Amino acid sequence: MKKISDPKKFQHEMEQLRKKGETIGFVPTMGALHEGHLSLFRKARKENSIVGASIFVNPTQFGPKEDFKKYPRPLAADSRLLKKEKVDYLFYPSTAVMFSQGTVITVEPGKLAGGLCGKVRPGHFRGVATGVAKLFHIVKPHRVYFGAKDYQQAVIIRQMIEDLNFDIEFRLCPTVREKDGLAMSSRNRYLSKEDRGHAVWISQVLFGLRHKIRFGRKDILKLKQEARRELSRHTDRMDYLEIVDPLSLEPLKRFQPWMVAAAACVVGNTRLIDNVIIHTNREHREGSTENR
Ligand code: AMP
Repeated sequence: MKKISDPKKFQHEMEQLRKKGETIGFVPTMGALHEGHLSLFRKARKENSIVGASIFVNPTQFGPKEDFKKYPRPLAADSRLLKKEKVDYLFYPSTAVMFSQGTVITVEPGKLAGGLCGKVRPGHFRGVATGVAKLFHIVKPHRVYFGAKDYQQAVIIRQMIEDLNFDIEFRLCPTVREKDGLAMSSRNRYLSKEDRGHAVWISQVLFGLRHKIRFGRKDILKLKQEARRELSRHTDRMDYLEIVDPLSLEPLKRFQPWMVAAAACVVGNTRLIDNVIIHTNREHREGSTENR
């Protein structure tokens, strides 16, 4: 695996690969890699001749009171995992080199960033979209791979690709979970044993919601209320539990055949997010709709 931290050098290297007719699959990450990330590399490996990863903890997507400083950065262990997955290139720039001019020009994600995490983390998705746009220009990938775990982020990046005419194919990959259902996350390592016991309820409540809807419940507002009540027993702060339209991310009042139930809450000192995609008709469930 070739490791490069200089943006110009990485850009040049990718340019050469493109000229040779290679196809580049790219997975941007913040490191502290786990099986969720690895699933993205595996998918990229299947569809491209070259797989590139980035590890960059983007400061512009963290709020002033958030965990930017303490975010885990186990670069040596991450490198080993990437090599094992046969990733060809790792781009790991410094903050200084990525934001040497500060941020004068930014990518504004607009309405899609108004609700869910965007409401609680103002400016977060502007930081994400700006950072990811920079990475796309440096890497020039043919295909990019994002996890459904960060559903709002994925929808925003897909829209950015479309609206800003990036010549990139977007792939949405399913959320990878621990055996008991907890969505894998780099932040799970902050959880104490007791917190871990409570954290599993985020997925359990969302699965419960999906189960009830699949078995015929259509009273969306009441379902949300019930789920909120249940989840609040296990969290120190619930930022939201919502059922939204999968494309517009608007909260739903009424049932529709395709929905996303999403939650964000703090357990102990750790903010966790999760979501489930709910398809009630078989056609949707069996198709490759994870990509939409
Ligand atoms: P992060 O390092 O948290 O910025 O995540 C990098 C990429 O990995 C994003 O596209 C995430 O959505 C994805 N990802 C993180 N956790 C999971 C998971 N449990 N399952 C699938 N993808 C994930």
